Amino acid sequence: MAPTELRPASSALIERAEGLFPGGVNSPVRAFRAVGRPPLVLERGEGPHVWDVDGRRHIDYIGAWGPAILGHAHPAVVEAVTRASRNGFALGATNSLEIELGEAIRRAMPSVERLRFTSSGTEAVMSAIRVARAATGRDLIVKFAGAYHGHSDGLLVEAGSGIATQAIAGSAGVPHAVAATSIVLPFNDVDAVSAAFAAHPAEIAAVIVEPVIANAGVVPPVPDYLQSLRALTRANGALLLFDEVITGFRLALGGAQERFGVTPDLTTLGKIIGGGMPIGAYGGRADLMNLVAPADPVYQAGTLSGHPLSMAAGIATLEELEAGRYAALEATAAAFEAGLADAATSAGRDVAIARVGSLLTVFFRPTRPIDATEALASDREAYARYFGSMLDQGILLPPSQFEAWFVSMAHGPAEIAATLEAARTAFAA
Ligand SMILES: *Cc1c(COP(=O)(O)O)cnc(C)c1O
Repeated sequence: MAPTELRPASSALIERAEGLFPGGVNSPVRAFRAVGRPPLVLERGEGPHVWDVDGRRHIDYIGAWGPAILGHAHPAVVEAVTRASRNGFALGATNSLEIELGEAIRRAMPSVERLRFTSSGTEAVMSAIRVARAATGRDLIVKFAGAYHGHSDGLLVEAGSGIATQAIAGSAGVPHAVAATSIVLPFNDVDAVSAAFAAHPAEIAAVIVEPVIANAGVVPPVPDYLQSLRALTRANGALLLFDEVITGFRLALGGAQERFGVTPDLTTLGKIIGGGMPIGAYGGRADLMNLVAPADPVYQAGTLSGHPLSMAAGIATLEELEAGRYAALEATAAAFEAGLADAATSAGRDVAIARVGSLLTVFFRPTRPIDATEALASDREAYARYFGSMLDQGILLPPSQFEAWFVSMAHGPAEIAATLEAARTAFAA
């Protein structure tokens, strides 16, 4: 593949970044390794668009990897952050914005009776698991292959996102003893979960699941799968932990738990609830969350937790979402899916499109995957070529077959039409 011709601004910056950061980036997927292209250096986003330092405008489906459900730089969010910043930044004690955002989350997601804010999704998941272990007095965690739950040691085992992208089984530097506390099972296989409970009676603290896997590309749960996880955890004295860092406020105001009608014991959140600012949160049943310090013995803390600017951005974002534009977002995404399917068929391309709400993946394989093994059996080189053709036409897709495309409320008919026009060319290439 011919490398993109770079104009000076980005190539000079990329070179400096490569001298500073491992792989030139501060998070692996930004390096574009999986698609064999130089990484982008972005300087601005507005609505459905981002601009790179060479002045090129792209219609954006990375969506900041999840947070940008309103599009970039939504005026209400910019205004809220600007206003909050005049009062200073972290002040080191509780501020009223934390209470406001916490209450907005609980209104939307009633299973979150009490919660705690963190600075990232990684911390939220790590802490929720600590609570689950403390509450049950058990050490083992069940997770699913291809799901990503942040980069804490025990959860990197057969994880998705950047790990799937680079086709590495996990991470170096994770102690064997820690990895051994995670049982990794195939997604969408109820029998595998039953068998794990049978093999480890009274040892499994929690089952952690992305209710829709969005980090191996989009892999939805088969009908009744989440209900079965609910029943099995309950029957075996284990907790059910929904990692809704992506799906929360994405698939519905009340997240996947509202959309699928299944109530977990603990929930982790991030991304959208911070409106693009750093954030995470974990919460759930009051009796479980009451175990957290200073009330009780589970320690968890954060200098920047509940940061006023993150809270302000989150409150403004959730206010926009409470206005109830999910039906319109669903309609946009459904039209997008139909148009992509039509473009692929016209070009004689055998692809499978998986979509739940505004999360979507075009898999370069004949059928929709039901688990990570099937997802990983996609034609990555075909995806890379498709990505490159789309990029050359001003459409920015996630730089990996195994990341979800994010449609936002700022994507209108004009952007979808332009994207489908480009897709016809890219599928034919
Ligand atoms: C992004 C993500 C995380 C980690 O959140 P960070 O803020 O990147 O630490 C955890 N779980 C899921 C499902 C995610 O998509």
